[in-house]
Amino acid sequence: MISTTTLTQPATKYIFVVGGVMSGVGKGVTSSSIACVLQARGLKVTAVKIDPYINVDAGTMNPTEHGEVFVLKDGLETDQDMGNYERFLNADMPSSNYMTTGSVYLSVIEKERNLEYGGRNVEVVPDIPLEVIRRIKHAAHVATADVVLIEVGGTVGEYQNVLFLEAVRMMKSQEPENVAVVMVSYLPVPHAIGEMKTKPTQTAVRMLNSAGVFADMIICRSSLPVDQKRKEKIATFCNVRAENVISSPDLESIYDIPLNYEQDNLSTQLLSILNLSPKQPTNLRAWKQFVKQSKSGVGTVKIAVVGKYFNSGDFVLSDVYISVLEAIKFSAYKLHLKPEISYLSAHEFADKKQLKKLDAFDGILVPGGFGKTGIEGKLNVISYARKQGIPYFGICYGMQLMVLEYAMNVVRLKNASTEEIDPTAEHLVIGVMPEQREKIAKKEMGGSMRLGQYPAKLKAGSVAAKAYRATEIIERHRHRYEVNSEYVERLQNAGLQFSGTSPEGALMEIAELPTSVHPFFLGVQFHPELQARPLAPHPLFTAFIKAAYESRS
Ligand code: GLN
Repeated sequence: MISTTTLTQPATKYIFVVGGVMSGVGKGVTSSSIACVLQARGLKVTAVKIDPYINVDAGTMNPTEHGEVFVLKDGLETDQDMGNYERFLNADMPSSNYMTTGSVYLSVIEKERNLEYGGRNVEVVPDIPLEVIRRIKHAAHVATADVVLIEVGGTVGEYQNVLFLEAVRMMKSQEPENVAVVMVSYLPVPHAIGEMKTKPTQTAVRMLNSAGVFADMIICRSSLPVDQKRKEKIATFCNVRAENVISSPDLESIYDIPLNYEQDNLSTQLLSILNLSPKQPTNLRAWKQFVKQSKSGVGTVKIAVVGKYFNSGDFVLSDVYISVLEAIKFSAYKLHLKPEISYLSAHEFADKKQLKKLDAFDGILVPGGFGKTGIEGKLNVISYARKQGIPYFGICYGMQLMVLEYAMNVVRLKNASTEEIDPTAEHLVIGVMPEQREKIAKKEMGGSMRLGQYPAKLKAGSVAAKAYRATEIIERHRHRYEVNSEYVERLQNAGLQFSGTSPEGALMEIAELPTSVHPFFLGVQFHPELQARPLAPHPLFTAFIKAAYESRS
């Protein structure tokens, strides 16, 4: 095994976060909050996510099933939890911090094909867990971290989890002093009984133990705080000390969680388990300031997000657009406003009679998307926002459709479309990017879009440049199609300005109408939401929210 211990530097510490009882209790936010409070002790912290899917990355997963695809700076398509890490740590995460079952198997198989196992028998155990451990250590090395948090997706007891728990067991037996295990459990308070029950947690801990892994700390998610009596009961039955049973009740906002953890001395307890000295007393000053500001908005701003992935059976999901929603909030808070965000399904606006509903909003946002469904409704919404002077912010597909709408209704191009939907249309205002055409033909669809960070230059004096207060920017991307350069001149002559392009000018990155004709009508080919942080709201979102608030009816 590689040892990270040197004489001068303390060994890197590893904290595994595993889930018990059930999924959906906020393990990602819990991991992010732990990372946040440890960072507040002056330590260098990074966070790794293990996703138990065969998909090699999250780019090929259905958004309504899996939630948002979060694109890292270096282009990897990952799970939305990576976004939580970036937001809670106010730092970019590298692609070494994400793995799926599929990616782990793929590299083991590739190594085997390259004879890197020296002709020996390659087996699921130990070779898969060893590859998991190698990746975790690599992530620690890349981040030069004091502490690495590793969130193991899924729940203890699930078949898909087994090999990852085996990696935890192996690491803990190799370097027990450097590894801690935190189990995030759920304590129900059944209505009929009115009492918080600890039994499911006890059962989950036993299941974890049967994998040879023992929890050092249990974080108790529940609707209510866990009282001392139950903390002691959990301690006795689950083999942890009572001070390592942490109460994690539902709170008004997820950003309250780190502050709540520190009330239970979480960082001190974890550092003592790992025998690691903090570099400073907890410093969450900026975080507290952000949380305070988030609750003290004076005005209200009403934003409609028009998407197509909100409905899942009888339920409405907003996870698909989580970064967009958070970005709206951060900018509203910065402006001392309370955001009221409504999720509207694009489909309903295929019927133009429904468009009147949009009058109730101060601003409209159409986020990224793919394919045909909902497109008619989105085009109608954009057209309405343009004509009625309702501030509009289009992201990726929301920008492409904004440009298409302009081409259809202002430039008056008949039979115009995007190549993604109708490649036979006469005017392909949005066309496939040249390097993408080949990939589509070869069906190379996984991880092959234009992904990750690229620079762009902005026109001085434009709405975009004023918002950024800069003329050079770097943003993250995820797309295969782009504005067709053949139509740029006609669109510009008709009033739509391309205020942001790739550095050499070939690719249209931002389209906008001047403020003399519309209070805010702007679309971006990239995904600004991926870089919006609680402590650093995104300037374009702030400009949009400001325009929305100022033009409210
Ligand atoms: N479907 C469009 C494209 O591939 C937009 C992608 C997106 O919105 N992320 O270019």
